[in-house]
Parts: sequence; C-alpha cells; structure tokens
Amino acid sequence: MSPVDEFLPPGWTVQEGRGIALVIAGPSGAGKSSVIAEVLRRDPNLAFSVSATTRPRRPEEVDGRDYSFVSEEAFDRMIEEGALIEWTTYGGYRYGTPWAEVAGRLAAGQDLLINVEVQGALALRRSALPHPMVLVFMIPPSRDELRRRIRARGTESDEALARRLAIAEEEIRAIPEFDYLVVNDALEEAVARVEAILAAERARIMRCSP
Ligand code: 5GP
Repeated sequence: MSPVDEFLPPGWTVQEGRGIALVIAGPSGAGKSSVIAEVLRRDPNLAFSVSATTRPRRPEEVDGRDYSFVSEEAFDRMIEEGALIEWTTYGGYRYGTPWAEVAGRLAAGQDLLINVEVQGALALRRSALPHPMVLVFMIPPSRDELRRRIRARGTESDEALARRLAIAEEEIRAIPEFDYLVVNDALEEAVARVEAILAAERARIMRCSP
C-alpha cells in the first residue's frame, strides 16, 4: 500500500514490488556495455543481469560481474537443467540469460538492466517471465561508425570481425520490433537517454493496474 493509492481506482496500487526489466540490445559496436556500466554506476537501485557465456574472458572483464564465464560442458548442463531463460550462439560462442539472475529479482521489485543480442531480447519478451520487458535498441550514429567501432575493438581475428559485421546487418532489420531507439553518438547523451526511458517506464500508469 502506498499513500498515493487513494487517488487510484479500486484495486489499483503503486506497484513497488514489480521490477522493470530494461533490455538493451543492438549490434556489437553499439556501445551497449559502456552505456550500461555508466547507468549502473549512477543508479544504485539498478542491478545487472549477469549472463553465462562460453566466450573467453577479455582482460578488462571480471568473472561474475560482466559475465559468468563457463565451459561448454557447464553451459550444456545449464540448458539441460532449464536454468536459462534464453540462449544463443553468437560469433562461435554461446550466451544465455539465467533464470536465477532475473525472475526472483524482478519479483522482489529490483529493476534490472539486461545486455543481449537482438534475438535474445525478442526471446525474453516471449518468455514466461510475468513482467513486462522494455526493449531498447541501441545503434551507433552511422553505418561507417558501426564498422569503425567493430574494427577498433581489435580483440578478435579478421574472421570474427567479419562475422560480427554480418550479424550486425542482420540485427538492424529487427528495429521495428523494439520499444525505444537510442542512438549512441556520445556516451553521456546515450546514458541520459537510457535514464530518461527508465524514468518514463517507472512512471507508467500501467504499472499501477491490478
Ligand atoms: P560480447 O562477446 O561482445 O560480450 O557479446 C556478444 C553479444 O552477445 C552482444 O550482442 C551481447 O549483447 C550478447 N549477449 C550477451 N549476453 C547474452 C545473453 O545472455 N543472451 C543473448 N541472447 N545474448 C547475449
């Protein structure tokens, strides 16, 4: 019960116990990870859903913070046990969203940021999670910039880069299925746009309905 409830129709209540899942997708090179890290740093009420992956850890990454880095066998086991809401193969490695990272925390009213590729975002929306998913598509300001950023990452082979470019082109076609588009030209502005989306979603009347 909130004191504000007396303003609402019978049966409605300000749903403090219902977390928002803000799913950020978009091609590799859109800058999702940097934007997410900054939004998390600024908002202590937000948490990050840590995916499981079979990809090797990059030097700047921390196991358990950025990803749970697991073996192929451990990933197989997670699938068999039904521990993943969705999973995909991307650039030769597997990535998945564990139920344990998401369901309980949303039910407890925790707002979550989820970083996935495009099909993963759409799979989350179709999943059995009883919470509305807010789907944000993040893109760089131009195709040239997209290519430049993917190349600049430089942690992968030429073959891996070509694969990521091809996947990016495919992903861009799904933009119409998303709720919000965030152009990431400058980090500061993209962070402000994501924060604005979160503020708008937190204020939705729908979140008070029975
Ligand atoms: P990276 O190897 O650059 O960290 O991630 C590659 C892609 O996998 C990115 O587009 C990232 O958003 C996506 N990804 C990370 N975790 C998950 C996940 O749990 N599920 C899905 N479907 N994609 C993920």
